[in-house]
Amino acid sequence: MTQQAREAILPGATIGILGGGQLGRMMAMAARSLGYRIQVMDPDPACPARPVVDACFEAGWNDALTSAYMARGCDVVTLEIEQVSIECLDAASRFAPVRPGAALLTVIQDRIDQKNWLVKHGFPVGDFRAVRSLEELQTAVRELGGRCYLKSATGGYDGRGQAKVGFTGEASEEEIRQAWQDVGTCACIAEKALELDKEVSVMVARSPSGETKAFPAALNHHENQILVWSVIPAPIAETLATQAKQIAEEIADTFALEGLLAVEMFVTRDGKLLVNELAPRPHNSYHASERACSTSQFEQAIRAVCDLPLGNVEVLRPAAIVNLLGDTWLHAAEEDRTPRFDEALAVPDVHLHLYEKAKPRKGRKMGHLSAIGATAEEAVARVLEAAKRL
Ligand code: ADP
Ligand code: MG
Repeated sequence: MTQQAREAILPGATIGILGGGQLGRMMAMAARSLGYRIQVMDPDPACPARPVVDACFEAGWNDALTSAYMARGCDVVTLEIEQVSIECLDAASRFAPVRPGAALLTVIQDRIDQKNWLVKHGFPVGDFRAVRSLEELQTAVRELGGRCYLKSATGGYDGRGQAKVGFTGEASEEEIRQAWQDVGTCACIAEKALELDKEVSVMVARSPSGETKAFPAALNHHENQILVWSVIPAPIAETLATQAKQIAEEIADTFALEGLLAVEMFVTRDGKLLVNELAPRPHNSYHASERACSTSQFEQAIRAVCDLPLGNVEVLRPAAIVNLLGDTWLHAAEEDRTPRFDEALAVPDVHLHLYEKAKPRKGRKMGHLSAIGATAEEAVARVLEAAKRL
């Protein structure tokens, strides 16, 4: 795609972020380093971004009035969560450019629209069916071979809003009915459960003037549908890594993306690369970019939305992260102690990142550990050793 003249929003300007969770916090920290001011909007007045921003507006994802109010004081607005309502984005866009914009968000917010968009533009995806009733689900499960992931069309993350069927023998009518209940008896997508060899992701940034840069692929390890650890660069065949990067760049260009887009992909046992899902924001699987790469995903997000030249995405040294869930805190509390961060930090080249979330809950992302290594394998071994010591 041809590049247009830049209209950079220079340091000193104010960036608005819809969402003040850990992704908003880390974007805000990168923006501060570059000399920007930051405002966020989040339903939680004690959100992780709050301590590092200039202003925090307490409002839900449907609060178009507050979104507009925040945007009035901003030079550009971005987001850290894709569930912000389109009304909020439209309201903000009356006062400042919103990047990524409502057109892209409309497609991504709904898993059915997202999958249909990918198919329409020729990107590879696994077999799926859009499902709007229990009867349709029963048919879909049969047609997809009996073993499926059911995902609500809107609102899910970290495996929430999902159910699995047919994993313990043939799916009975009762199991299918239960799954339909579990995801909330709403519009869903039923996906054939794929035999996975690996999961990878590619973070791509594109600026409004058309510059596009994709980071080298990350390798991601999930358990119970939630990311446990991730490493950059993915230790995978070069042809596969190149193919993954190309797919991400093509998606970004087709959308005329302004900002970041994470493309989650499956590598199946028979060697196929399939797109799983898209996230138009920083992504958990690229937290290690802060250690691995010349430019972190958070700085790249700011450069992209401000139309600054994109940073070099080269990997300088392999780095890995492991997520720290509330479970670690709860487990320590049972033993009447706090997590042993000092022990974890004694592992060479390990670093701690906490999001200042007050209440640990099971499955809640509280922070992560990162480590560099001479190889991807060594970086992973180090973070896992450090996590074990907590
Ligand atoms: P979320 O929005 O919660 O990240 P995903 O669709 O990415 O939802 O699913 C979470 C994880 O569940 C994936 O990373 C993968 O490990 C597993 N998973 C999801 N869909 C499938 C599928 N069709 N086949 C095999 N594994 C899947
Ligand atoms: Mg996912």
